[in-house]
Amino acid sequence: MQRLWRLGPGEVAWRDAPEPVIRAPHEAIVRPVAATTCDLDVMILRGTTPFTAPMALGHECVAEVVETGPEAAGLSPGQRVVVPWHVSCGACPRCRRRLPNTCSSFPPGAMFGMDVGGDFGSFFSDLVLVPHAAAMLVPLPRGLDPALCASASDNLPFGYELTVPYLAERPGADVLIVGGVGSVGLYAAAYAVAAGAGEVLYVDTDSDRLARAERCGARVQEGPPPRRTPRTYPITVDASGTEAGLRCAISSTEPEGMSASVGTHWGDVAFPMREMYAKGLHFYTGRGRGHPNIAAALAYVQDGRVDPAVAITDVVPFAEADRRLAAPAMKTVFVR
Ligand SMILES: [Zn+2]
Ligand SMILES: [Zn+2]
Repeated sequence: MQRLWRLGPGEVAWRDAPEPVIRAPHEAIVRPVAATTCDLDVMILRGTTPFTAPMALGHECVAEVVETGPEAAGLSPGQRVVVPWHVSCGACPRCRRRLPNTCSSFPPGAMFGMDVGGDFGSFFSDLVLVPHAAAMLVPLPRGLDPALCASASDNLPFGYELTVPYLAERPGADVLIVGGVGSVGLYAAAYAVAAGAGEVLYVDTDSDRLARAERCGARVQEGPPPRRTPRTYPITVDASGTEAGLRCAISSTEPEGMSASVGTHWGDVAFPMREMYAKGLHFYTGRGRGHPNIAAALAYVQDGRVDPAVAITDVVPFAEADRRLAAPAMKTVFVR
């Protein structure tokens, strides 16, 4: 089978790889039918991260089940499923607390499409072996287009996670999103609007992303993140990848408000601790929890409240991934 590798700056190629084989009863083999880049992949491909080549990429896809072990209950060949970005067991205390992104049965950080704690396969591939498939795989709801939902592994439910649970605690609250890294800020805006936020302000320097945020129903502000916004927000999201964006989100959060950052800060950054202490700031950062939010995020897509296409730049044949990812767009979906 073929697997896509980033070999160096602007250099991406298909390489032969051994076909996966089921060796444990809980495993399944799937074939990605719609795969796309996470915002992090785009940064890696553009060479703006500390990640080094060679690297087999891809941790966002909708796949078709090809083969199942006897304990992969509820799955059958031909079924379409979302494969979460992380690798997890579904049974350890962390998975049972709905934190499979930190599953204790695998090395810390274990995921697809990145050699963290081992090589677990990658989604720009013909086939992928999925451990604990019954716990890991999320059936794609009937009628949903795999191309539209390729990001349901990671960036799409991350947008949900950064806004919807906080809006449930503060119904109708206003939300500030500082964009910049790519799709996650746009998805956060889409879910905030869909979940009934008051005003959703989206700040970015990129005119294409600003137009897309406007299509989500956000009010947009063009330009670099200000030191702080003229008024404060109960919920703020730093999806900028910059220290200035993180600082803007924190300083624009109202007392006892919630500020979340999607990360992609590649070094230590200074926190305004005195200000955060004085006003009582709740802060979260992480890679997103993945599995626990996938079905809930897709429910918004199924009933038309969120359109994942707001962040999709184009949809092209799978075989073109080597050429297209040498100079990646924000979110190209590769289909077969
Ligand atoms: Zn990702
Ligand atoms: Zn686990």
